[in-house]
Amino acid sequence: MSYVGPDFDPPQPRRSPLRRPLTVAVAAVVVGAVAGWGVWQGVGDSGGGDDGSDSAAVPQTRSATTPPVSPDPSTSDDGEDKAASPSGSASAPAATGPLKGKVVVIDPGHNPGNFQHTTEINRKVNIGTGSKECDTTGTTTNDGYPEAKFTLDVSRRLRTLLEQQGATVKFTQDEDRDWGPCIDERARIGNEAKADAVVSIHADGSGAGNRGFHVILPGSVNEGDADTRPIVAPSRDLGERIAGYFVRATGSAPSNYVGDGTGLVTREDLGGLNLSTVPKVFIECGNMRDSKDAALLTSGAWRQKAARGISDGITSFLKN
Ligand code: ZN
Repeated sequence: MSYVGPDFDPPQPRRSPLRRPLTVAVAAVVVGAVAGWGVWQGVGDSGGGDDGSDSAAVPQTRSATTPPVSPDPSTSDDGEDKAASPSGSASAPAATGPLKGKVVVIDPGHNPGNFQHTTEINRKVNIGTGSKECDTTGTTTNDGYPEAKFTLDVSRRLRTLLEQQGATVKFTQDEDRDWGPCIDERARIGNEAKADAVVSIHADGSGAGNRGFHVILPGSVNEGDADTRPIVAPSRDLGERIAGYFVRATGSAPSNYVGDGTGLVTREDLGGLNLSTVPKVFIECGNMRDSKDAALLTSGAWRQKAARGISDGITSFLKN
């Protein structure tokens, strides 16, 4: 989400090998994923525009595997992560299922209590490449639905779906603490859990007319306590799968304001990604400040679809 205040991040320059990832993704998909890929492409092509949201509904086939594609750069938003606390709640491991033995850490962005703890969340923490605020408040829709409520709701739905697949799920926060955690702690929780995959859930706070979702991938960073080099490739794989399945489950188009229609953006300024030692991505599910996107984000039925898309992407990644 968006960063309120000092956290606002200007768009970054695009990374070069733009089309290469596409090729890789296509190759990876070959078997079985064709349907998903086709859907993704169709939606992706339209992506500049707008509305995608309900349009493209795509058939939901659970078979496919990988989706999308491409490159990156960044945005405005927020993605940040915040960090975490000790409290993460772990789920009871399911007895069985394809994800049995897999650990997924879900990081619900922000915390509904952050608004009342500005001093605490404004303190700086080290993210390897520099320092950044411990956490941010997150954005809201124009009608006041807070991102921090959205992230928790989607995360809980996602947890249920993953547990049904047999995964062990841990949260960085579940509204069980007054604020935070800080972004460095959020990263640490995934690392210490030796998570097989970590997803940080957000919604953006961009301008009206800016629509659609995007998945944020870690760029290659090797500075201070940050060394993302080992997780860049697996995180991209995870992110591409989530993006593809998100399109299928929600019918939403990739962002029309970052990512060149691919729904993928790479950033090197997010502590939650820089400090991760396990595959991790962020997803900005939509733009809370756009009325059409807000109508989706405030719908429980849509949030269920969003959770389904993210769950399918994670499942595809972990089964591969
Ligand atoms: Zn956010």
